[in-house]
Amino acid sequence: MPGPICFYIPSHIIDHIARNARQLGLDAEAAQRTAVASAAIRQQRQTSGLTSMEALTAPRPGRGDRQIFDDQQQFETGGTVVRGEGDSPVAAANANAAYDGLGATREFFREVLGRDSIDNAGMTLLGDVNYGDKYDNAFWDGSRMVFGNGDDQIFQDFTRDVDVCAHELTHGVTQHTAGLLYTDQSGAMNEAFSDIFAACVDQFVQKADAGEHNWLIGEEVMAAPMYGEAIRSMAHPGTAYDNPVLGKDPQAAHMAQYVPNGDPHVNSGIINRAFYLSAIDLGSYPAARIFYAALQNLWPTAVFTDCAYLCAEQARILARDGKVSRNAPQTVRAAFREVGIE
Ligand SMILES: [Zn+2]
Repeated sequence: MPGPICFYIPSHIIDHIARNARQLGLDAEAAQRTAVASAAIRQQRQTSGLTSMEALTAPRPGRGDRQIFDDQQQFETGGTVVRGEGDSPVAAANANAAYDGLGATREFFREVLGRDSIDNAGMTLLGDVNYGDKYDNAFWDGSRMVFGNGDDQIFQDFTRDVDVCAHELTHGVTQHTAGLLYTDQSGAMNEAFSDIFAACVDQFVQKADAGEHNWLIGEEVMAAPMYGEAIRSMAHPGTAYDNPVLGKDPQAAHMAQYVPNGDPHVNSGIINRAFYLSAIDLGSYPAARIFYAALQNLWPTAVFTDCAYLCAEQARILARDGKVSRNAPQTVRAAFREVGIE
């Protein structure tokens, strides 16, 4: 069952770039190609599958093994296999970064949340690098993680931030657990869970906790001219970027800014901030365990109040079992109340 496709750079940003590229002196063709390719992938994805499986080290079924493909600038996934599980690093830095990013995400889910790969049954992790021509995006197509190179004016290679990989793979986890529909509040939660565990994987790699983290999503994929901007801020949704190229960050931080039937990437800010507030008080991993337990009990059409209720309920169960601190239910309820959900 394929879930919804999620592009790392949301369409409202891609569209803004495509509309404004030429007058800003940017590579308008690269922006247009990215916009067109993204639309085409949405149409074609139902028929896409594995087209090349000649592994260096073949993945062992059910072990969460990694396999990295080089798409050689073609707009087609499943190119040449360049690195398998346990193979030595290769010359291409982005192939190694993709390998490491998939590995870090897999290890975070295994060590912190006790989950065995995306499907909790050791699903093989496929990653494609060098997808398309200056392709300004990355995506999870339901079976593989695909990274563009970026145009180096706005975005750089999408393997450069582990956020990207962790965000996209978490869409796979959501697809195999709550199956949250990609519309309105369930869609916003689908997006939020991806940012939540992406931020946690970032901290897992940096060996940092909530108080030391910048809570930015995608800051490492910004090209030099965009240095200092990011795609989203979990601590302060709506403040990640504001410039002529990307536009202004429209993310909601509170129910007062909630957009009915809005883009999931906009309303996700409300749940992102509830997680951030919980993590600052409880620590990122305890907060992650609570939200992960909630994710496994949510359902496709769930709404924000269901998420708030289940997070508090799971916090109570985890606290009773000594897995999170005793005040966790109160902390989680207060965090949701602070963003207007009760
Ligand atoms: Zn997403």
